[in-house]
Formats: sequence, structure tokens, C-alpha cells
Amino acid sequence: MANTVRLRNSGGRWAVRLIPCFIVAVITFATYVVVGHICIDYLNSQRRESGVAAALLVLYFLCLIFSAATYLRTIYTVQTNPAIVPLPHGRDTGSHDIPKRSRRNPDPEAPAWGSWNPPDNNPDSPGLEQFYSKSVFVCQADGRPNWCSECRHWKPDRAHHSSDLGRCIRKLDHVCPWVGGMVSETSFNFFVQFTFYCTGLCIVTLSAGAYCLSLQRRNGESVDGLVVAVIALSGFFGFFTMAMTLTSGRYIFTNITNIDMLKGSQKYQLAIRIPRNSPPTDRYHTIVYPLARPQGFGAAPNVSSPHDSMSSGSVRDKEAIHTFAIVQTELGENPWDLGYWRNWKSVMGNNIVEWLLPIKHSPCCNHESMESDYEYGPLIAELKRRFGLPDEQLPGAETGIEMQHRRPSHR
Ligand SMILES: [Zn+2]
Repeated sequence: MANTVRLRNSGGRWAVRLIPCFIVAVITFATYVVVGHICIDYLNSQRRESGVAAALLVLYFLCLIFSAATYLRTIYTVQTNPAIVPLPHGRDTGSHDIPKRSRRNPDPEAPAWGSWNPPDNNPDSPGLEQFYSKSVFVCQADGRPNWCSECRHWKPDRAHHSSDLGRCIRKLDHVCPWVGGMVSETSFNFFVQFTFYCTGLCIVTLSAGAYCLSLQRRNGESVDGLVVAVIALSGFFGFFTMAMTLTSGRYIFTNITNIDMLKGSQKYQLAIRIPRNSPPTDRYHTIVYPLARPQGFGAAPNVSSPHDSMSSGSVRDKEAIHTFAIVQTELGENPWDLGYWRNWKSVMGNNIVEWLLPIKHSPCCNHESMESDYEYGPLIAELKRRFGLPDEQLPGAETGIEMQHRRPSHR
């Protein structure tokens, strides 16, 4: 999906223009000092340590090339494909009219003042079928998906509204002025590669500077201002990028995002598909899709109400009816936690080439599975046990021989 967007905040747009220039200036200075001043002039020519100089140069240029490649790929992806959730056909957000969010409100998803739009109560609301055609999705207490009141659409699993772009973003992580925008599911792996190689570049630079400085002190030479400056710069940026790499690594291994961290421990409401003839129970509420039409809403072209079609419709109509149990996780449980190894592969890719090179998007960007938008972990099986959900795969479970005519439990 090529979908170029601009940050709505003018300060952010200026940061996007100025920061890359600043980074290029810093890298140019560091390259001049490490390559020309330290390795060629001092170590090779003056001290005759050509082996050390060559090793430092190889390491420096390897880190520089990989840093540049991952940086360009991250910027390109952030600018052209920030994983924006498409609007229902023909809908425009009217983004220029949407008021800004209060800076004092720490909740990244709280609607901006005056921008709240109630959920679409039309049973045939555009986009609903993308949720109930899957087996599991995040829902509200009434069993309908989460609603973005600013974009006025149903919010896919793990999508969050970005006030900076004025749109919902899939697996939004954070706004990063260093890479010019929104780091999300399409760019997070490239971003982590960039911070990793940048850390390597800073370590090589710091090592070259420290080695040069120690030789100069040992030989009683005067303090070299350029070497001290490059040590200070690489120490500062190295600390910063290493902290980013370690934090991002933690997010990858635990399958969370920066937004999840900001929100803290939370409970998720999940709609889990069960056989439509499951016996009623007071352990959980259910919802039946397509949603029933209220009296007088107008005749539906195909399925007017689940109950009508279950009693009189064709087999195809019956198969189109999906019943979901609405259950809630405990505080802090992460339904997408697949275990360290699979969490890593879902973001970084399936082999070492994908881990190291900015070639492919994360496997988690693929949302074609009929099971769910993002792969769910073993917590779903645990929730089925915990709430006593009937197994969808039981023989005869979907035959509809003993159909229960139950109302969707809209609370
Ligand atoms: Zn939105």
C-alpha cells in the first residue's frame, strides 16, 4: 500500500526536514575524524600501525553502509507506507477540520476535544464483515470491534489512532523525528536494524577515538580536540541508540509496542468464535453476526436477521452466521504473545538474512489469515478452557440440527 502522508503538526514537519541534515553533518564529521584524522594520518602514517588502522576502517565502513541502508529504508517506508488503516470506500476524514488533542492528555488514543463521533449503529456498517469473518478479534463489551471516533471506522486489532497523522495506524509504535515519522508494523524491523547498526558505528568510532587518545597520552602528546569531540559525540549517540535497540528488542521478544507500554497493564476484551448452536451459558455473553436489524430499520437484501435466516434460510445463509463468545483477559495478559522465538520471527523475519538486511517487511504485516489479524498465542486456548467455550471443530458442531435462537447480547 503506497499511501504518502504528512505530519499534521508543523513543528514535526520541520523536525523531519532538519534532523536528517543534522545526522548527515554528524556522520560527515565523524567519518572525517575516524578515517582521515585517526586511521590514515595518525595510526597509519604517524604511528605505523597500519593493521589496526585497516581493521578500524573495515569495521567503520561496514557499520556505516548498513546504518545508511537501514536508515534510508526506514525513512522511505515511514513516508510511503506507514500502515494506515484504509477508510471505508469513499470516506474522507476531513483531517484539516479535526481539532488538535490536548497536550496535557497522556492517553495517545483519547479523542481530541470536539472530535468524538459515536459508533456506527447500522448493522451493515462498512468493514464489520472483516472482523466477524475471522475467528478472533478484539472487541468492546458489546461484542462489536473497537471504534475510532476520529476516523469513523472500526479499528482493527492492535491499530491505534495517531493524532500526528490523523489516522489509525496498524501496530503503531511511536513517532520518531530521527526517521521522519511514524514507526509502525511496516517499519519497526527496519528501525531496529538501523538503531543496531548505528550502535555498532558508535562503538567503532568510540573505540578508534579512545585508542588514539590513549596512544597520544602515553607518548606525552597534547590533547587532540577533534578526537575528544568524536569520543563525546559517539558516546552520546551510542548510549542513545543502544538504549533504543535494547528497548525495541524487549518489545519484539514480548510482542508489545511502545503504545502498549504507555498504556500499562490492560485487559483485552476478545470475541472468540464458537459453534452457532452452542448452548446458552451465564459464563460469557455472545454476539451473532451479521448483526440483527432493529424493527423498522429496513429489509436486508440477504440476511435480515440471524434468527430468521437460521430458521428459514439456505445452508449458505446459515454458514454466513457467526457466533462469538465475548471474554476478557486478566490484567497484563498479552493475547499475541507467541513465545520469545515466534515473537522474534513475527517481527524480524524467518531467517538471518531478513534479520540483518532491510529487505522484507515483517511477517506480521500479512493480515490474510482467516484466523485473526495478528497471530494469537496460547492464551486463546487458555481462555477457551477458562470460560468453558465449546470447541468450534467438534463434529456436528456446525450442522445446525439443534439450533438455539438466541439474541445477540448487546449490553
Ligand atoms: Zn483513527
